[in-house]
Amino acid sequence: MSNCISLLGSTGSIGRQSLDVIAACGMTVAALTANRDVERMEAQCRRFQPELAVMMDSAAAADLRLRLADTPIRVGSGMEGLLEAASLERADTVLTAVVGMVGLRPTLAAIRAGKRIALANKETLVCAGELVMEAADTWGAEIVPVDSEHSAIFQCLQGCRDRGEVRRLILTASGGPFWGWEREKIASATVEQALKHPNWSMGAKITVDSASLMNKGLEFIEAMRLYRLPPEQISIVIHRESIVHSLVEYCDNAILAQLGVPDMRLPIQYALTWPARTEGVAKPLDLLSCPPLTFHAPDYEAFPCLSLALGAARTGGTATAVLNGANEAAVGLFLAGKISFGDIARRVEHALAVVPGVQKPDLEAVLAADAAARQAASEDF
Ligand code: MG
Repeated sequence: MSNCISLLGSTGSIGRQSLDVIAACGMTVAALTANRDVERMEAQCRRFQPELAVMMDSAAAADLRLRLADTPIRVGSGMEGLLEAASLERADTVLTAVVGMVGLRPTLAAIRAGKRIALANKETLVCAGELVMEAADTWGAEIVPVDSEHSAIFQCLQGCRDRGEVRRLILTASGGPFWGWEREKIASATVEQALKHPNWSMGAKITVDSASLMNKGLEFIEAMRLYRLPPEQISIVIHRESIVHSLVEYCDNAILAQLGVPDMRLPIQYALTWPARTEGVAKPLDLLSCPPLTFHAPDYEAFPCLSLALGAARTGGTATAVLNGANEAAVGLFLAGKISFGDIARRVEHALAVVPGVQKPDLEAVLAADAAARQAASEDF
């Protein structure tokens, strides 16, 4: 069970919900980090009294330093600050809730410092899963997933004595706002439409990824890395109600599932209290007022991002880093109103075609693939 937490990405959606859980569970905070939301960061610092507060943006850090001048809280900035927050002596757990590839180096630093990693930053495992899992083995760091699907699988694997008994993992997907739409209609969807998720309230990047089903593709790769299983042993089903958060099928045909209301505070809490469970912060699920639970096969034709992700998963090596980097860049362009929704998949496909792949990449190769993919996804072709 965690006692003292460094929370990377505290002002985002997962970060704010994590602070709810930390407060409710009576845990303390060693460090908070954010990108540039100084106002919210100041309020969080005053409430949680961390030793260190870090802003990625240097102007925001200077502003925060002035605002917190009457407190003993140290203010850091940039990647250097993020790395320090990830390895602070006082913290037993590092919760990585930053969005994107920027989470990779701090996660590796936290692993080297022997922390428990409560991992909400899926891009880290997607880009460099083998490196991260190897480092965790070497340094004896525990990685506990925060992503709701992976937390569900993690919970269904508790008590599994032999991983050889697992036949497959079944990831559920809500299908997002465009489920049931034709491919052409999806391709011309607006930013506003993409940001309307039916069940979950999340940050902008992951909400767009959920609409394109790229999020499920990234989670497929995340599951492969985290549970060290080949793609053949992972399936995806569309489950519109987001009540069954994922399932594990065992060799005797038993399927275990984890159910609950769609509230990220539940998997966040489990990542922090594991292997124990404590009084829930999220509401209980009332089975009697639950909608009927439905399951459908994914539509790979209408959601090309999902096919691209599964293809990259099978290729392996740097392909998954290219997929992720290109997607981050393309989603940024879409949110800025510069490209269409359909262009996201087109640009990711282009990057996968033009960036050369490397098998068994080291950190430099991963970072180079990420940079090349962003470049390829941003250029006109
Ligand atoms: Mg998820």
